[in-house]
Amino acid sequence: MVNEVKTNIGVGCYNHPDRTVVANCPNCGKFMCRECAEKNKSKLCDSCEKERIERAEQEIKGQAKAIKQDSVGELIKVAVISIALAILGFCIGQGSGQEWMMAWIFMGFPWGWKIINQLMTGNFMTWLLIWTQKAWLVAYIIKFVLAAFIGMFAWPIKLIITIYHVVSAKNLEKKVAGGN
Ligand SMILES: [Zn+2]
Ligand SMILES: [Zn+2]
Repeated sequence: MVNEVKTNIGVGCYNHPDRTVVANCPNCGKFMCRECAEKNKSKLCDSCEKERIERAEQEIKGQAKAIKQDSVGELIKVAVISIALAILGFCIGQGSGQEWMMAWIFMGFPWGWKIINQLMTGNFMTWLLIWTQKAWLVAYIIKFVLAAFIGMFAWPIKLIITIYHVVSAKNLEKKVAGGN
């Protein structure tokens, strides 16, 4: 379907002046013959179609940039938290001969804690409290130890995933930039 012709008196298609006008560009109103009116799926004339594609590309580029910024921000956050906790763990472990182990355990703790809270919601604490006969402190110590243990394995995975997100966001940005 082509758009209704507004006027064609004495004027031909913008590309083919000798042809009968059957439509106007919906955006700029340029006169178009049947061939030109049906050339672009959008029904737009060539210059409006070009503009539309450029706008869409800009939008995708903006989105890719935002994804990259988010992933870089997350990596920085993970790195800063990890380094701070590693230093703390190292300091606490100093003199025990377990400095590096402590650094590793501390580094992983936030991720282990997050996982344990996701996996074991309310019921887990209830169960722990029953099992420890309402010894809150013991229940929390168990939770802490479990979080520390899980964190030791979760931390490297978290780092790899975060780096992977940055790399794929960069690739996406490159791909989008190369698209024109
Ligand atoms: Zn147009
Ligand atoms: Zn034409």
